[in-house]
Amino acid sequence: MEPTLADVLAVLDELYNPAWAESWDAVGLVTGDPSQPVKKVLFAVDPMRVVVDESIEGGFDLLVTHHPLLLKGVNSVAATTPKGKVVHDLIKSSTALHVCHTNADNASPGVSDALARKLNLQDTRPLKALPQDPMDKVVVYIPIDDTQKLIDALAAAGAGQVAGYDRAAWTSTGEGTFRPLDGAKPTVGTIGEIEIVPESRVEMVLPRHRRRAIVEALKSVHPYEEPAFDIFEMASLPSSLGGGRIGVLKQPLTLEEFAATVATNLPRTHHGVRVSGDPTRRIESVAVVGGAGDTEFERVRAARVDAYVTADLRHHPATEARAYDEGPALVDVAHWASEWPWLEDAERLVAAGLAERGFTIDTTVSTICTDAWTAHY
Ligand SMILES: [Zn+2]
Repeated sequence: MEPTLADVLAVLDELYNPAWAESWDAVGLVTGDPSQPVKKVLFAVDPMRVVVDESIEGGFDLLVTHHPLLLKGVNSVAATTPKGKVVHDLIKSSTALHVCHTNADNASPGVSDALARKLNLQDTRPLKALPQDPMDKVVVYIPIDDTQKLIDALAAAGAGQVAGYDRAAWTSTGEGTFRPLDGAKPTVGTIGEIEIVPESRVEMVLPRHRRRAIVEALKSVHPYEEPAFDIFEMASLPSSLGGGRIGVLKQPLTLEEFAATVATNLPRTHHGVRVSGDPTRRIESVAVVGGAGDTEFERVRAARVDAYVTADLRHHPATEARAYDEGPALVDVAHWASEWPWLEDAERLVAAGLAERGFTIDTTVSTICTDAWTAHY
């Protein structure tokens, strides 16, 4: 069965959630009608003229690119500008354009996972991990007989979800004590007398945004006039999402050997592979950032890796990073080449996601090199 554009976008948004994009970015659908059918999808790094022509001439219904066509706001898409002409031609040919940029950088697997795999890195983790969703812990004290009813109510309100489990709770027992004062309406005990009640202490985790619902749920089932409970904010842990990756080589290599692997395993470009460092240096741990990685030197140095593979490195940041005794060797590749491996991942994962929903599509990864540099003398 053939999907609509909306069906394909649902799969893309699951793999590359727009919420993971940086605030300055412009991701998502640029042209296209969600109700249009999609038979053929082309994946490319850049929505440049040559790629748009490839898409239109090849009869593709959807072009998925990494880089945005319109990153900054525009006042016109008249066909008098190169980008306006692209918008016109995409619409006239009913070609949808969808962008997965920093949301694909921060995904897992994301752009830097594909680059890390090309370089045979193992045990990878994000260089710049996004924090997990903020979590709270609720602790409630309740008469023992009401314990399971409370756990049910808190679970229904969203507490106790832990990976593949729900209704997860910890309970222990002890004694609660109190003295009801004049005017109180105690469920247990007598006005003016000290009461001691066997109680459970129930602990459950909850997403922070469910805090209000959890408090309402516990108050609705708790038998006491004034339920005793605490809510704690839990320390945030790094998630598996985020930009860049750090990993280790299966076997240590010299910098010269490692650079040769990079050159062999990434698509060839006129830019080639530039190296900064002693060619005999032993390389075992490596950081990678697909695309421009100038801004990540602090994190790379803190990770104490032997080499840093990225694109668009400039003279001053690079020489400053190398000035540290323990600074990493630098391997600078073409921007396009560093991000191209992701296209193969996206192609495979989108096709698999659609197959799970009972849809089939034709997919192609563009091999047209759209790197900025077109010759090297
Ligand atoms: Zn890029």
